[in-house]
Amino acid sequence: MDFLIQLNKEFVPTKEIDNGKIVKNRETPDRLKKIENYILSNNFRLLESSEFSEDIIYLAHKSEYKEYLKEKCQTLGEKDEYLPEVFFVDKIFDTGTPLKHNTFEVAKKAVDSTLSGVLNTLATKNPTYILTRPPGHHAMRNYAGGYCYFNNVAIAAKYLETKEIRSAILDIDFHHGNGTQDIFYDDKNVLYVSIHGTPKIFYPWYSGFENESGTEGAEGTNKNIPIPGGATWDIYKPALEEALNTIEKFKPDFLIVSVGYDTHVKDPVGHFAMEDKDYKEIGNALSKVYEKIGFICFVQEGGYSASANYKAFLNLLEGFEGTRR
Ligand SMILES: [Zn+2]
Repeated sequence: MDFLIQLNKEFVPTKEIDNGKIVKNRETPDRLKKIENYILSNNFRLLESSEFSEDIIYLAHKSEYKEYLKEKCQTLGEKDEYLPEVFFVDKIFDTGTPLKHNTFEVAKKAVDSTLSGVLNTLATKNPTYILTRPPGHHAMRNYAGGYCYFNNVAIAAKYLETKEIRSAILDIDFHHGNGTQDIFYDDKNVLYVSIHGTPKIFYPWYSGFENESGTEGAEGTNKNIPIPGGATWDIYKPALEEALNTIEKFKPDFLIVSVGYDTHVKDPVGHFAMEDKDYKEIGNALSKVYEKIGFICFVQEGGYSASANYKAFLNLLEGFEGTRR
């Protein structure tokens, strides 16, 4: 496994509105620090990120959204934090995704690092883990939300599509990736499969239902597998098998995994009850699919307990690398 780290430590959102109250924002660099330390203290191949033109953002987002975000950030001073109080106002669909003066800049760096990692895999065939933030899977074509500003994974998959490379995106964050679904809902060349807490109860509430399968012409290229809160491995395992079978049938050229560790029992945000060792099973199952497809990247999404993230990551890596390492 090759690694690319882009944690944008200069971007630390402090607030969000949850259930009507202003609370501490959890999407901070600290949540991934233990994983970073592990990667840096082991002998992995570390990649540098390239800088791409801002135009790559248009692969997945509307120009009016990109320009809005850029201009709004320019109006903010170094200590300002703009927090929308109403859903779908100011091109932010929730109240958990504040803007700071450097939000545009760091979100673009997360995009650059994701694309750099994907291009590394394309060139070397080595699996690549892109440890980055802010995450991306909630970012829609025209809206930020869920701590996400640009959809890192979606931009990378759209880029691959311009090279006639068909991707499948497997999203194993606790939350449904409404942004990724939004971007690919009418795209028959990219498969989006997500296993997540049922939106009947959990964020983002309005999407992630089983019957959302893609628009006409792209039917079957969007697959949602919602499962109940409190789910343990015995419930998660068949969902993962179903997801991986769907991916194998699609026969993608490239697999991108949106990895969120907020499925862990100790995560303060997600509501599953997955344990450390379950991530080894996930890693192992992914390695088998990877052997058939030949190209895989892991891109960091959620996970809000530094220690749970670290243990889940270690197990996922061990399960994936197995005897190859
Ligand atoms: Zn999440």
